[in-house]
Amino acid sequence: MQNTSKVNSPRPDWLEGSRVILSPGKSRLFYNRHPWVFPGAIASIVGSPADGSVVALLSHTNKFVGWGIFNSKSKVRVRVYSWNPQEKPGESLFRIRIREAILLRQNLGMLDNKSGCRLISSEGDFLSGLTVDQYAGWLVMQVSSLGMGQREELLAKLLVEESKGIIAPKGIVVRHEKSMSRLEGMEGEDKTIWGEPPPEQLEYMEEGIKLLVQPLTGQKTGAYLDQRANRREVGRFAAGKTMLDAFCYAGGFGLQAAKQGAISVVGIDQSEIALGLAKKHAELNGLADRMTWTRADVFEELARREEAGESYGVVVLDPPKFAQAKTAVEEALRGYRRLYTLGMRLTESNGILVVCCCTGLITWDMLENLVEQVGAEERRNIRILQKLGPSPDHPVAASCRESAYLKCLVLHLGEKSAPRPSFSPG
Ligand code: SAH
Repeated sequence: MQNTSKVNSPRPDWLEGSRVILSPGKSRLFYNRHPWVFPGAIASIVGSPADGSVVALLSHTNKFVGWGIFNSKSKVRVRVYSWNPQEKPGESLFRIRIREAILLRQNLGMLDNKSGCRLISSEGDFLSGLTVDQYAGWLVMQVSSLGMGQREELLAKLLVEESKGIIAPKGIVVRHEKSMSRLEGMEGEDKTIWGEPPPEQLEYMEEGIKLLVQPLTGQKTGAYLDQRANRREVGRFAAGKTMLDAFCYAGGFGLQAAKQGAISVVGIDQSEIALGLAKKHAELNGLADRMTWTRADVFEELARREEAGESYGVVVLDPPKFAQAKTAVEEALRGYRRLYTLGMRLTESNGILVVCCCTGLITWDMLENLVEQVGAEERRNIRILQKLGPSPDHPVAASCRESAYLKCLVLHLGEKSAPRPSFSPG
């Protein structure tokens, strides 16, 4: 007997349009909801998908794996946005993703019209290539994939509709990081995409501190929101202490420390613009009398201060990313080693050293090993008090843990030992 239902059922959507077929043995990762398909996993492409168009991702046996957006110019040939055959990337799916992202921040109590908060965190919100930060009702979109770039207007519209009644956005600007744009083969103009253009500088609150942000010209989307909870946490250790805040940008760690009772704070950064902001922040919060700012290369400045015999109760080292690729990890570790050595020498007996690392390729283990080794070389007893990651408005998808990057170790450094005797152990 003929099975009529099978004969009459239409071919599913995902067997109709352009599709990317995975090589045998390569599907597991994507069934497990990993969002990045590199060329090495692809056996063939059926149809001729335009860059930025939606494709179905299928196993080598033509089983549905997911829906993604194709880009022949990017190393990430397909970014996957959905693992449900009924949820094709488009207005309705993006609306669901944006709604879920906003709900999460709302539930965390981080969303209001005064503070700063990351609203959308790319892979962490299953929207690879889209980051959105919120500063007192102004939204800054950062687009880092061609697919998201082509849909900027739609995404802005959805952000407005889904955040209405929660933060009532005033305006949205869109920004494109140059290096990512090059890798994705896209061109984008930084501009106001919806609503009022924001003032060049606007004010928002972070854990009781007033901060200014330049949404169109500051680094990244203007501020480093990922360290929000860590700044407050580290500030706790600074009451009654002196602090050195190296790579201070706009003063984030130092300001919290000063607010929580630090006697004095020295901030060091090489960027004049960042230090200009830091100075303003100190004044705005009535903390200028205990904060000084030095424009210098951190490595040189720390060495200079170490030679001058200085030491501090709390030292924070929050450098930028040191390695973009695996080949650069060795050199990055040498950089961290040098920094930790200087940092330990500048931390007084029973003081606190905070080392932050935003190089995703460097693992917690590598970091802790380095601390152990440098501690031994510097003859200090080191205790790990806290291991801190990013604030929870920067979630990490369990299926894409390589998008996690921020690691901070809060270390207690024991007594400075007497100098090593001048003989070497036999
Ligand atoms: N701690 C900051 C964020 C730091 S971002 C906060 O809490 O907001 C990294 C900073 O390091 C940037 O401001 C950058 O200007 C600065 N920087 C990078 N390399 C540097 C160097 N060699 N010397 C001094 N500053 C540097």
